[in-house]
Order: sequence, then structure tokens, then C-alpha cells
Amino acid sequence: MIFQDMIDIRSLDIKELSDLSEALGEKAYRGKQISEWLCRGASSFDEMKNLPASFREKLKESCDPGRLEVLRELVSKDGTRKLLYGLGDGNAIETVFMKYRYGNSICISSQAGCRMGCAFCASGKNGLARDLTAGEMAGQVQVTQRSCCGEGERISHIVVMGTGEPFDNYENVSKFVRIISDEKGMGIGKRNITISTCGIVPMIAKMAEDMPQVNLAISLHAPNDEIRKKIMPIARRYPIDELIDACRKYTEKTHRRITFEYAVTKDVNDRDKDIEELTSLLKGMLCHVNLIPLNPIEEGGLKSPGRRRAEEIAEMLEKAGIPATVRRTLGSDIQASCGQLRLSAQAGANTENQ
Ligand code: SAH
Repeated sequence: MIFQDMIDIRSLDIKELSDLSEALGEKAYRGKQISEWLCRGASSFDEMKNLPASFREKLKESCDPGRLEVLRELVSKDGTRKLLYGLGDGNAIETVFMKYRYGNSICISSQAGCRMGCAFCASGKNGLARDLTAGEMAGQVQVTQRSCCGEGERISHIVVMGTGEPFDNYENVSKFVRIISDEKGMGIGKRNITISTCGIVPMIAKMAEDMPQVNLAISLHAPNDEIRKKIMPIARRYPIDELIDACRKYTEKTHRRITFEYAVTKDVNDRDKDIEELTSLLKGMLCHVNLIPLNPIEEGGLKSPGRRRAEEIAEMLEKAGIPATVRRTLGSDIQASCGQLRLSAQAGANTENQ
């Protein structure tokens, strides 16, 4: 099969695209031209009209343009768009496009599925299918910008908070950041990119070293190991003290504020004593707590105490000197949270197969 040997062209940076062009007998500047097309969301070589036809043929023979096929698109009343993209191999991933006052933001997936198995999350319910390539992550930004933004309008912010655990696919995520922030390409500032992790501790120091300007968000969801272990299997591997210690070192090194995500879950982590414990855990840290009223998934058995309780918790934290906000819920009318669309598509596929 020729496809197995195809070069994943969207995963190449401009230098590598130039080298590829030269290897195929063209001038190096063709690499920049290919990059411009990819940035514009092109997903076929035929579109790349300023390349000689003979070169386009050579590219077709040796390279995969990394097409993302829109399988479903849901548009919310608030302008949020949720896209289900089909990858070449039958896997599907979710991407969410959001409009904020400060600009357009995109939430991308880093893996097809996830193997972290958090109790409250739909993304991990069927385990990990595979890692996404850097190009499949870049493609989500480029193709979505093309379809969701008007002329001259851009995506300015990226959160790696869709399906998957980015630190379980570190090398590809890191290459993606390099490609997407390249000023000669999409030029999305590293300070406008946020990576969210369930807490794979060794990678926190690595990120501080490799990409100190990128923002870090930690899915904490509990004030202690006892509660955390019940809802997040990763807590059995990395105790909360080690996690917080790594976070402190991260802020010392980068001087960047960490966001702690906390899915407020009824009778699990939302009691006054839980919040008091959370307060002492985070006291004095350069951080911000993002409270998300739990978005219950089927078969999870976990419930949300409601937005009002999340707001109360935010007040408690603020009073104790810890900045906290309740996350704005965008796209709640379109299943825009956490793997729900992909899961429902799989369920649909399963019933069709039966
Ligand atoms: N694996 C990464 C990124 C993907 S999840 C991580 O764990 O951070 C993105 C965020 O959504 C995480 O904070 C995750 O814990 C949260 N989340 C997942 N399912 C949720 C649900 N049902 N309700 C509220 N938040 C949820």
C-alpha cells in the first residue's frame, strides 16, 4: 500500500517543507508556498495553484495532505461550533470553535480517544485509539479557521483541551506548538496557547523547559489523593503532593500563572471541607482556579451541584485569596463538552453495524 509510506506533510515545519521541495527537485522557497496553503486550510495539492503542475503531481505521489473531513457540525445559538472531523484511517476527533470578546478560540484534540480513564469524562470511555500527529493538530486549527472565520478573521487562541491527554503524546504536541506558532506560518503566539493535563508529573518540568511561554492548565478536580484517586486513575501514579510540587517549580521557573481546573461534583468534591482543603493546598501559589459545574455523562453516576454552588465555591476561594472563576458554559445546547459528540457518533456507528 503506497499510503503507508506517504509523508505526513502537515506535520512538517517550513524548513522541512523546503528540504522536501529540494529533494523533489524544486527550489527551497516552494516549501514556504506549501506552508501558506496548508495554513489557509488547503487539503489537496490541486488547490496549490502557484506550484508547477509537475511538482503537484510529485507531491500527490509521495505526500498525504492530511485531509480532515467534516463528519458533523453543530452550531450553537452563542456562535460556538462543534466539529467532528474524520481522519484518513476511520478515526474521528472533535474540535470546538468559540467566539470570545478577545478573539476566536479553538479547543483541539490531541489523541483519538484517551487512556486516562477519568470517571467523569466521555473521551476516555472507549480507551485510546491512537495519538494524533502534529499535522492532525495543526490541521484542526487551519481547516477550522477556513470554515469558521470570515475574510481577514483569525483564530487567535488555542486550548489543547479536547479529547486526549496531551502529555501522553508530548513530542507531537510539542512539534504542533512549534509549527502553529511559527511567525512565518500561522503565527499564533505561544502565550495564547494553553495545554491542559490530568497531571503526568514529569512532563510539567519538561514543558517548562521546552515551551516556557505556553500556558499550563492542570485538571485537579480534588483537594486530596483520597478523592482524586476515586475519579482520576492518574492520581494512583502521581500523588497530589508531587503534582503540586511540580506546579510550584513550574511557576518559579516560568513566572506563569497556572490554571487549576475543578469540575464541581455533587457530594464528591464540593463540600465546604473540600474547599477548605483546596484552599490550604493552593495557598500562596501563582494560580487561578477554573470551576466547571460537572457536565454529567451517561453511566457516570456523578452529578453537578449546579452553577450556584460553583459560584459559592468561587466566592469562598476568592475570600481566601485564591483567584477563581466559574467557567462560562458555551455551546451547552450542542453537546460541546468533552468527547460527547465523538462518543455519540461511535454509538451511532455501533447501532448501524448491528
Ligand atoms: N486530558 C487533558 C485535557 C482534556 S479534558 C486534561 O485532563 O486536562 C479538558 C478538561 O475538561 C479537563 O479539565 C477535564 O477534566 C474536563 N472535563 C472532562 N469531562 C468533564 C465533564 N464531564 N464535566 C466537566 N469537566 C470535564
